[in-house]
Amino acid sequence: MFHFDRGLKLTDFDLAIDIRRRQPRGFISHAHADHMARHELAFCTPETGRLYQYRHGERRVCELPYEQPRDFGQTRLTTYPAGHVLGSAMLLAECGGESLLYTGDFKLGPSATAAEARLPHADILVMESTYGDPAYRLPPREQVVAELVRVVQQALEAGFTPVIHAYVLGKSQEVTRILTDAGIPVQQHPLAWAISRIYEASGVSLGDVKEYAGSALPGHAVIVPPTHQKGYRVGGLKRVRTIAVTGWAQNPAGGFRPRADHAIPLSDHADFDQLLACVEIVAPRVVLCTHGAPSFVDRLRERGVNAHVLDEASHVHAR
Ligand SMILES: [Zn+2]
Repeated sequence: MFHFDRGLKLTDFDLAIDIRRRQPRGFISHAHADHMARHELAFCTPETGRLYQYRHGERRVCELPYEQPRDFGQTRLTTYPAGHVLGSAMLLAECGGESLLYTGDFKLGPSATAAEARLPHADILVMESTYGDPAYRLPPREQVVAELVRVVQQALEAGFTPVIHAYVLGKSQEVTRILTDAGIPVQQHPLAWAISRIYEASGVSLGDVKEYAGSALPGHAVIVPPTHQKGYRVGGLKRVRTIAVTGWAQNPAGGFRPRADHAIPLSDHADFDQLLACVEIVAPRVVLCTHGAPSFVDRLRERGVNAHVLDEASHVHAR
């Protein structure tokens, strides 16, 4: 069904999955840079296709809209919403009476700007486990959203400009929609603004948002990239209160040191409990973990799950 060649590949159809090297055929689960390469032919949702072409120019794309199975030889491919960012998809591959679900980055539950994840059953589950540690149990989403709105409102009332550091794809749009829904207009860094145009073109409305044009407008929140991203700074900001939004904020013991006045644990990744819920819902024979704490494999085994790290030996475990 699959093999590992410095990344996951479907054997029968010869499809590379989220491999960062150019491939003849590559599935792209979503348009974050660590999941993409300039493939000869990319397989992805239409929304991810738009974001991929925005980043890499006009390239060949085979679109796989959510929940519309397509057959390629003996292999049937179906994408499911992953709840992570616009267009983010899980991939269900079925071949020879077996099924494999690759989650990519995912999050369960509602989102303001991404389709809510839906998990089908599969025999083999390949899952990201970024927050595969019990320290990453995030508070309920409503609580996190309320805290974000409160911190931004308090900054505005005290005469500060709230400046929110958020990834340009996904988090920026999610924060924008949360704030505009709460009646707070938003100005976005040009990098986030360009991505937001693609959200709007894909039918995801973001409310009262404009591009940041050199000065903060009264009553507005400003969204800029995280401080480690080149070019995150914009000129013309005075009297700011900075806010980082990331799931890592949940666990200061894990080494997260926000360079911000506030850190809000708003995440677009599944937390520890959601990772466990994912395994329960998919009910696979074997779980192969990628992108995360190797200790998550131990946590699953303690619960009686046949779990392994995804690597060269995975196809043996999956038999
Ligand atoms: Zn991602």
